[in-house]
Amino acid sequence: MKRVLFFVLILVISNFAFSESFNIGYSKSFWQFDVVKSEPVFEKGYYQNDFTCYSQSEFSYVFVENDILESKDKKLDKVLVNKIQKRFDDYFPILSEYFGPPSDLDNNGKFIILIADIRDWFYYDMEIQEGMEPILGYYWFAFNGMNNNDYLTMDFDQPEIDAYGTLVHEYFHNIYDNVNPEPVNVADRAVNEALAHFAIYLNGTMDKDSYCNWQFSILKKDISLGKFLNPFDGSHDYFDIVNPDTHHCYANGYFFMYYISEIILKDDNLKKRFFNTLIYEEINGSSAQKLNNALYNMGIIDCDKDFDDLFFDEYKKFVTKHLN
Ligand SMILES: [Zn+2]
Repeated sequence: MKRVLFFVLILVISNFAFSESFNIGYSKSFWQFDVVKSEPVFEKGYYQNDFTCYSQSEFSYVFVENDILESKDKKLDKVLVNKIQKRFDDYFPILSEYFGPPSDLDNNGKFIILIADIRDWFYYDMEIQEGMEPILGYYWFAFNGMNNNDYLTMDFDQPEIDAYGTLVHEYFHNIYDNVNPEPVNVADRAVNEALAHFAIYLNGTMDKDSYCNWQFSILKKDISLGKFLNPFDGSHDYFDIVNPDTHHCYANGYFFMYYISEIILKDDNLKKRFFNTLIYEEINGSSAQKLNNALYNMGIIDCDKDFDDLFFDEYKKFVTKHLN
């Protein structure tokens, strides 16, 4: 009997020790990423910075970087911060329903949104080359483990419509990476990125027609350059953020998900089964493995029709028709 009691006590203590909740005003250090210092050695971009707990809601905490709170020049848009948190609570149920739950390393049932001045080329006032855009947000799964918290980072200075997209896109990465923490090729993120973009569409984060048209305009450039890239073949490095091919791959990846979900499957339960298969089967597998497995399970490809037939024949016809 004593032994049982001892065991129960240890369980209670360990549970208690791993739960971390925060009060407004509480200051905490989080691992962050410096885009400029990460070239050419990725890990050189890792650094820690202090944040203050700004607000909490049903599903989230918002922390704001102390550098912003203490600065005279950096103006925090408090209305936008409140809207971002409200949107997160609105999106959370539908994202959970379609894709599954987030990680909860700190065992507090809430996800953390960090508002920071992201250290990119604009932060350092560097000379800007063509095609360079400010980094609006990021998610890096390794940081969650290093910090033992579940969080994404968003830049404090971005248009409202972009902010909601950034929020959903980066949050999706947590769901996916939590299930697939050790991909064979870290740079092969095609399924992960395509679904993160599709999550924006799914939530109606921005008007669905406008979102489709926007992604199409990116694809148009791709096709006008005589290309029709297959983003899922593992050859595109998604960490190469200044290369335009990657942008075309994001658009093509998203649109392929749109094609399968909205044009082929249509039915809500079938869509959920497809997304579930993509995320929760072939764990850590390549994008090609994951996609082939999911498409095969849904009966979209089989012995008579392989992925190339679907992508370069049927899907390409659909895209071309839309562009004309
Ligand atoms: Zn992404």
